[in-house]
Amino acid sequence: MSEEMKALEARCALCGNCPLGATRTRLVFGVGTAPSELMLIGEGPGEQEDLQGEPFVGPAGKLLDDMLEMIGLKRSQIYIANTVKCRPPMNRDPAEEEMTACRPWLDEQIRLVRPKIIVCLGRIAAGELIKKDFRITREHGQWFEKDGVRYMAVYHPSALLRDVSKRPETFADLRELRRVLRRDTTLYEQ
Ligand code: SF4
Repeated sequence: MSEEMKALEARCALCGNCPLGATRTRLVFGVGTAPSELMLIGEGPGEQEDLQGEPFVGPAGKLLDDMLEMIGLKRSQIYIANTVKCRPPMNRDPAEEEMTACRPWLDEQIRLVRPKIIVCLGRIAAGELIKKDFRITREHGQWFEKDGVRYMAVYHPSALLRDVSKRPETFADLRELRRVLRRDTTLYEQ
């Protein structure tokens, strides 16, 4: 982790720019390697993440690790963050204004990670980062390009835990992701 990223996290730990800062147990800033050619972005911390201070722990995190293993990657090779760094109460979706308040932190993370590819985990992150009217059921697995970065969205691991019928489509999305990562990044040479 770069010194710049550590300094950014330390500043973020003092953030109270939206109401979520007052109810969090721990800041869930992000985890992994920066810079990295691949960045994953989910919506926000859940209960376990809030307690442990790390994104994607618990059953959804285990499934995310399995998804990464399927394409030959480990979480330590990439960078993982969320659209909001503090847990929305009762695991509700982050509100538009909360994501807007938190966006400068995410933008700074993206600047430091310098990813070639960003994978949005779920509808909320895709709506924030790819386009407002993103339809996850129709548009997961498709490529989008913005400012020289390629984006893809896949179903959120929590959705895959709730509905196993979505898994085959997600496996196909991950195979497509692996194909492009192999072709356009050095992740498999590490
Ligand atoms: S969610 Fe983001 S903007 Fe809101 S208090 Fe936490 S770090 Fe600050």
